[in-house]
Amino acid sequence: MNSSLDPVEGTELSQEPAEEASQAPPTRYWIDLAWYEQRGRSFAALLETRRCYNCLDEIGDKRARSQFEGGSNAPARMAADQAWKRIQECCAHTHEFLSPRLPLLEAVFRLFLANGNAPLPVQEIAERLVQRHSDYDIPRTVSAEALKRVIEADDHYGVRPYPETPAKTAGADASLG
Ligand SMILES: [Zn+2]
Repeated sequence: MNSSLDPVEGTELSQEPAEEASQAPPTRYWIDLAWYEQRGRSFAALLETRRCYNCLDEIGDKRARSQFEGGSNAPARMAADQAWKRIQECCAHTHEFLSPRLPLLEAVFRLFLANGNAPLPVQEIAERLVQRHSDYDIPRTVSAEALKRVIEADDHYGVRPYPETPAKTAGADASLG
């Protein structure tokens, strides 16, 4: 039965790591909210500074009013999910929100704020930024490779690889990069 098998074709190709790498879907990224918790950083505070002028006026008014009404504590910051929703509804549609003048990573962060944190591979992040920036006088070109380097060096925005498959159990394996 096995006499007709070509010995050359039957050899062990299964150990080639390159094959697996080329078939794997590209890494997608998103804003990892757990990253903020781990570092004790306030995501809500970061959101607040990305609001548009109109919203900031409104926030300022509310704050002033609540102080006037005798609230001794500083008024609670708008919850992150609420603020995020307002950014999507309002601020992300302003001209300045994704200006090409922004640092690259800031623009990436805002892109995720605008899309509701849908995970994206670098190639698509680059395409979307180029598309958004084409509305401006000084369009910016963004290469996927440069973008990947910038994202992977990020230690400020919590833009991290999206966990594609539900992690077995988080904890032991913190170093995925
Ligand atoms: Zn707004």
